[in-house]
Amino acid sequence: MAILDDLFPVPAIPLDHGDPFTLLVAVVLSAQTTDARVNLVTPGLFAAAPTPVAMAALTEREILHHIKSCGLAPAKAKNIRALSRLLLERHDGVVPQDFAALEALPGVGHKTASVVMAQAFGVPAFPVDTHIHRLAGRWGLSRARNVEEVERDLKALFPRERWNALHLQIIYFGRSHCPARGHDPAACPICGWAMSKARAAQERREGRLPAAARGASARGRRA
Ligand code: SF4
Repeated sequence: MAILDDLFPVPAIPLDHGDPFTLLVAVVLSAQTTDARVNLVTPGLFAAAPTPVAMAALTEREILHHIKSCGLAPAKAKNIRALSRLLLERHDGVVPQDFAALEALPGVGHKTASVVMAQAFGVPAFPVDTHIHRLAGRWGLSRARNVEEVERDLKALFPRERWNALHLQIIYFGRSHCPARGHDPAACPICGWAMSKARAAQERREGRLPAAARGASARGRRA
């Protein structure tokens, strides 16, 4: 946590939005799509439909027109229109501050609901994306294979009041330092300190650890 605080003292919410509804739509759009891509398409979409009323009044085709460069765009257009209609029918057009009610909306799973609860309402949550899953494993914080169990492990390890910031800090760290393939523990601000001897030995056996990095773990621990 101390190293992440130094690297990312005030982690910004990566998806541009103006209120809980536009954040919800942006998070739905972010599945299988980069945040940068989502931030390119949402200004046009939100200019046309900034509220559930306006979004529900658009056709799927009109929504698709704005978001077509995102992955899974046809399914997302369908879900965004349907969730806007459900918000009007069930919640008077207001995004509910409730995990179960959010997860009942089309296209909204536990991770999306967790991001909205954390970033729109400040409720402690620990959404686990691909970066967090990978880093939790590499740092030895969780051996779990699925994101639900990783979330459970991370929540048990870290103080509740840190969950929302840590979620963003780990994502930013993953994007900037920890690629899915190939890495250099000697140059890594966290693994240089945290990598276990057992893991370093395993990576050496598998030929994944550069020779220059072999002393990184011990050096980092002494530092
Ligand atoms: S050394 Fe860095 S890049 Fe490699 S697993 Fe650790 S955090 Fe990720």
